[in-house]
Amino acid sequence: MKIIIGTSVVMASLLILSCGQTNDKANTNSTDTSQVAKMDTTAEKTYSVELVNNKKDPSCGMPVTAGIGDTTHYENLVLGFCSTECKNEFLKNPKANIAAAEVK
Ligand SMILES: [Zn+2]
Repeated sequence: MKIIIGTSVVMASLLILSCGQTNDKANTNSTDTSQVAKMDTTAEKTYSVELVNNKKDPSCGMPVTAGIGDTTHYENLVLGFCSTECKNEFLKNPKANIAAAEVK
């Protein structure tokens, strides 16, 4: 329990820090760029190509090897998408779009 509270406090502090930096234009850009780069690395590790069952993002046709931004479960499959927008697009009509996913 203490760990959870501690993590929340750290995350809240980070949020406050990043809000404060937004007003400070000179230093914000370089700091934000490094933070985005770190987040991208984490995302690639979280959504590994081996963990998804499709070869292509069914919404835009991009190969999942180019980078997976979001995933969803569909009929016992794990599908990877380049972005949440593409996932949402697929979920509007999964039956019509599943063929384009090129399931392995
Ligand atoms: Zn896409």
